[in-house]
Amino acid sequence: MSPDDDSPVARDQPLIPPIHPASVYRMPSPQAADQRLGQPGSGYVYARDGHPNADLLAEAVARAHGAERGLVCSSGMAALATLVLGQLVQGDHLVASRDLYGRTLAMIHEELPRLGITATIVDTQDLAAVSEALRPTTRMLLVETISNPRLRVADLPALAQRAAHTGAVLVVDNTLAGPAVCRPLQHGAHYVLESLTKIINGHSDATLGFLGGAAEGFDRLVRAWSTWGFTPSPWDCWLTQRGLATLEVRTLRACSTAQQVATFLDQHPAVARVDYPGLPHHPDRPISQQLLANPPGTMVSFVLQAPEAEGWGAAERFIAAVSDWIPFCPSLGDVTTTLSHPASTSHRGLRPEERARLGIPDQMIRLSLGVEDPAIILQALRHGLNAV
Ligand SMILES: *Cc1c(COP(=O)(O)O)cnc(C)c1O
Repeated sequence: MSPDDDSPVARDQPLIPPIHPASVYRMPSPQAADQRLGQPGSGYVYARDGHPNADLLAEAVARAHGAERGLVCSSGMAALATLVLGQLVQGDHLVASRDLYGRTLAMIHEELPRLGITATIVDTQDLAAVSEALRPTTRMLLVETISNPRLRVADLPALAQRAAHTGAVLVVDNTLAGPAVCRPLQHGAHYVLESLTKIINGHSDATLGFLGGAAEGFDRLVRAWSTWGFTPSPWDCWLTQRGLATLEVRTLRACSTAQQVATFLDQHPAVARVDYPGLPHHPDRPISQQLLANPPGTMVSFVLQAPEAEGWGAAERFIAAVSDWIPFCPSLGDVTTTLSHPASTSHRGLRPEERARLGIPDQMIRLSLGVEDPAIILQALRHGLNAV
């Protein structure tokens, strides 16, 4: 098609962005090819080095986070890998929260040591322990805004201040919050990570990640992204752009339901404990009021009332009783309310004593609230608790 083509295909502008599955672009001339290849951002050549759907989505998520630059990666883990492989060298040290996502801890324990990158794992709610763990070689402090499944809220401004003492950057995985609940870059984080697979896409049909931060040094990350091959699929970017369009309204609705559900569970005799930062007894209530939207998030965890030895059975009965309304899915952030059972999924690798120490018994359930009528969810929970 020539540029002056007046056909409707060339002329009429669709409301939504087209999908660009092309893996390669026609070069008008050797001079144009030379220019595009020599100057990143000057035009598309080969999809692994960048394509329109990735750029459009990266811009939109960067805007949602107030980030100067953003990059969409093939998964949340690829976003973390882009940052780590793009910035760290042999001999570097990390300080990381003990409550990180399982695969993030696996990266730290199983992959990074082979590259000569070491880490100290601490309880990042304990600021003195964080200060103690920081070394002159510490390059990154890695935390999650809201941890899984206890839903502890990281004190981002205080952590940023501690990290600055040794020149480390604060990296925040914001997956359990999403930009409608928290924008970590506004609270001292240097980089924000999101698994777009979860809340931002919101429809459980794409796997993607996001990395956002300041413009300075970002070209290095884009280079690592392309070289290691963390570029996302155009189809997944397109779907996630559609999901992002409703992020704000989905989050508002799910947060409101989460607060109602947490309050309901907190008063129910069949529930031993509820973790939700919007409850007055939550240990991080003050910092959550400073950093998070109100109500503070779409996730609610709770522990069924059951003798310790019978916890697994109680969880089985509850999960079976609610399954027609609330499916057991070990992920989060869907438009449908889902539940997870940490003891058999995210935390199955821990010994029972270790889980008990972290407050994650066999009868703990984690809810990810969706956008349904809250009355239906409350009814399902009532039914499930009666069955325990
Ligand atoms: C799911 C998840 C990730 C990893 O994201 P993927 O898209 O599955 O690679 C990272 N951190 C948190 C907190 C997550 O929940």
